[in-house]
Amino acid sequence: RAASAPAYLEGLNAEQRRAVETIDGPVLVLAGAGTGKTRVLTTRLAHILTLGLARPGQILAVTFTNKAAREMRERIGGLIGESVEGMPWLGTFHSICVKILRRHAEAVGLKRDFTILDTDDQIRLMKQVIQAADLDDKRWPARQLAAYIDGWKNRGLTPDKVPSGDAYAFAGQGDELYKAYQARLKTLNAVDFGDLLLEVIRLFRENQDVLADFQSRFRYMLVDEYQDTNVAQYLWLRLLAQRPEGAGPPNICCVGDDDQSIYGWRGAEVDNILRFEKDFPGAVVIRLEQNYRSTSNILDAASHLIAHNEGRLGKTLHTQGDAGDKVTVTCAWDSEEEARLIGEEIEQLQRRGESLDDMAILVRASFQMREFEDRFVTLGLPYRVIGGPRFYERAEIRDAIAYLRATLQPADDLAFERIVNTPRRGIGDATVRTIHDVARARGIPMMQAALELTESEELKPRARSSLRALLDSFARWRGQLDALPQAELAAIILEESGYTEMWQRDRSADAPGRLENLKELLRSMEEFESMLGFLEHISLVMDSDAGGDEEKVSLMTLHAAKGLEFGTVFLPGWEEGLFPHQRSLDENGRAGLEEERRLAYVGLTRAKRRAALFFATNRRIHGLWQSTASSRFLDELPESNVEVVDTGSLRTSPSGYGHSRFDSREPFGSTYSTPGWQRAQRNKDRAAVRNPWNEPPLIEGEVLARSTGAESGYAVGERVFHQKFGYGRVSAVDGNKLTIAFEHSGSKRVLDSFVERH
Ligand code: ATP
Ligand code: MG
Repeated sequence: RAASAPAYLEGLNAEQRRAVETIDGPVLVLAGAGTGKTRVLTTRLAHILTLGLARPGQILAVTFTNKAAREMRERIGGLIGESVEGMPWLGTFHSICVKILRRHAEAVGLKRDFTILDTDDQIRLMKQVIQAADLDDKRWPARQLAAYIDGWKNRGLTPDKVPSGDAYAFAGQGDELYKAYQARLKTLNAVDFGDLLLEVIRLFRENQDVLADFQSRFRYMLVDEYQDTNVAQYLWLRLLAQRPEGAGPPNICCVGDDDQSIYGWRGAEVDNILRFEKDFPGAVVIRLEQNYRSTSNILDAASHLIAHNEGRLGKTLHTQGDAGDKVTVTCAWDSEEEARLIGEEIEQLQRRGESLDDMAILVRASFQMREFEDRFVTLGLPYRVIGGPRFYERAEIRDAIAYLRATLQPADDLAFERIVNTPRRGIGDATVRTIHDVARARGIPMMQAALELTESEELKPRARSSLRALLDSFARWRGQLDALPQAELAAIILEESGYTEMWQRDRSADAPGRLENLKELLRSMEEFESMLGFLEHISLVMDSDAGGDEEKVSLMTLHAAKGLEFGTVFLPGWEEGLFPHQRSLDENGRAGLEEERRLAYVGLTRAKRRAALFFATNRRIHGLWQSTASSRFLDELPESNVEVVDTGSLRTSPSGYGHSRFDSREPFGSTYSTPGWQRAQRNKDRAAVRNPWNEPPLIEGEVLARSTGAESGYAVGERVFHQKFGYGRVSAVDGNKLTIAFEHSGSKRVLDSFVERH
C-alpha cells in the first residue's frame, strides 16, 4: 500500500496517518494545539472519498464556524486534485440542522419555509409572552428570559424537561413562559437559533424512520473542536451515531483538545470529550504530540502556562522547528501607547516584506478593539474584524451615537428614529408612523413633528407623555452642550435616557461586554475637542472599510481565534481584571480562572513565529484611571522563553501588586507613589466624570464623596417604580433622597438608588 499511497498521505507523521487511515469504528484524536487535528480531519475526508468508501452526500462533517467549513471544502479539493461537488453535510451544527429541518419541517409542526429569528426578533417575541402572562416586562426583562431559555436549549431541555429548581426561575414561571414562547414560535412558523438543534433532536426521537434514514446515510461522521460541543450537540451526535444491534460500531471521528475548551460560559461541556471512550466502546484514541505550527519558544511558553491548570488530561507537545524568537512581553504606559507600539511593529514587519494577512491582534474583550481601530485608521493600515462587527458598528455603539447625533443635530431623522423607542418607552410603531407622516407632509424633521404632535390629541396619552419627556430631555441635553465636556455629557445622556440601564438590567451573556463597549466609547470621546469633532471622526472610521482583496491585519477576540493561525500574533491587555477577566473569576472562581488560562493558551498557540504580549500599567476602568497589575499569566510563563521589552514605561510605572517580576513596585493602593501627572488626572476624573455605570468605584474616597453630596437625577413629577412600594410619583427631591407619593402605599422617603424611572 505504501508504494501507491496517495500524495496527500505522505506529509503526515505516523500517528496522523493512523488517524486518517483508521476509517472503521469510533476514533478520538485528542491532541494539543497545532498538532494537525484539523489537517487530519480534512485528509481523512479526502481519503474516504478517494477510496470510494462513500459519496460526498454520505459524509457528515462538523466544523465550528462557517469559515472553517469553507476552508475545509477548499482544502479537500486541493488534496484530491478535483473540486468536490456536493458535500452538503459539511458545515456547522446549525447549518446542518437547518438543512435537515427544511426537509422534515412538517414532522415537527413547521412549514418548509419557516423563518429563523434573529436575537432582536427573539427578544421582541419574548416580551410579548411576558406581557401576555401579566408580568411587568420592566421588572422581568425579556433578555433575562432569553438567557434562561437559551441555556435550557443548550442543555437539550424542552419545556417539559426543565428541572423544577430551574423552572421556578423568572417570576416562578420560567417553564410556563418557555412553553408559551415555543407555542408562539409555532404559530409564527418560526424557530430561534437554539431550536435548530432541539427540533432536530425531537424530529429524530419522534420519527424513528427519519432517524434511521440519516443514520444509514451518514456512513462517516467527523467533528472538529469536539471539546466545545454543548449537551444538545452531543445528544444530536449520539442519536446519529446509534447503530442497530449487530451492525457494528459507527464510523465517527472526533478531534479536540481539552486545553482549548473555551465556551463553557455558553454551555459547552468538556466532559463530552472525556467520556468519548465510554460512549463508544472500543474507540481508538490517538494522541498527536508533534506541533507543526509554532517555534519552540512559543510552544514551551504555552505548555508551561497551561500546566498551571489542574483539571486537564495532560499532554506532551514538542516541535522540530527552530527555537525562533522569544515571546516578548512589553509594558506600555496605557492602552493608547499599547496600540501605538503595536501599530509601529506592524509597519516594521510590513517593511520587511511580511504580509498583513499573516498578522493578528487578539483581545480578551471587544471594547479593546476600539483603540486599535482608531490607530489603524490614523495610520491608514487596512484591517478586518473577524467574528463580529467593527467597534463602531456594534448595535450598542450605534445606539449611543444615535443619541449623540440626535442631540447635536435635531434634524437627523435616522438617529432619532433609531432610539426613539430604545429603551422601550411606550412609543410604538404606530406612533413612529404618525410622526413620520406629519414630518413628510410638512417637510420638517421628525423631532419637530414629534414636538407638534405632543401638543395635539393625535397620539395616545401614554405615547404623548413619553414622547414629551424624551423631547424635553433632548432639549435639556442640547442646552448642556457648551457647558459640559462631551464625554461627560454623553455619559449623562446615556444615563438619563435609560439606555445604560437597559443593558445593566439585561441578564444575557453579552450584556456586560456591551456595557464595557459603551464605557470605551465615552473614554474615546475625551480625546476630541468637541462632540462634533468626535462625530466627524466616527463617520470617517465607519467609512474606512476598504474592501477588496487587499492585505489586512486581523483583529478579533481570543474566542474567535480558535483554530486559526498567523505568523505574528499580538496579545494586548494582559492585566489582572482584564485577562484573566474579573467577571470569570467572580462568577466561576477556580473554574473561571482555568477557562481564562485556556483562553491564554489558545491565544499563544495561534502564533507561528512570533508572539508579542503587552500590558498597560494604566487603564481607564469604570471611568477612572487605574494603575493596573500585570496578569498573573505573565508570571506563569517560563523565563527562559520570554524576553521583557522595556519601553521606559516599566521603570516609571507606579503600578503593580509587587508580586510580579514584570512590575515589582509598591503594592496597589499606595497612592503616595503616584506621580503628579496621574494624580492630576485622577482628580480631574473625580471632578469631571460621573460614573453612570452604577459600579462600585475603585477608590475608597470616591464612595464617601458620592454618597454624601450626591444630587439625585430625579425630578419632581417623575413616575418611578420601587421594588417594595410599587409605582409612584416623585413629590420632593433632597440630595439623593426622594419623597414619593406611591399609588398604593402612601407617601414615603426613599433613597434614589432603590427606585427606577418608569
Ligand atoms: P488547533 O488545535 O489550533 O485547532 P490543529 O491541531 O487543528 O490546531 P492544524 O491547524 O491542523 O492543527 O495544523 C497546524 C499547522 O500545522 C497547519 O499549518 C498545518 O498545515 C500544519 N501541519 C499539520 N500537520 C503537518 C505535517 N504532518 N507536516 C507539516 N505541516 C503540518
Ligand atoms: Mg484545528
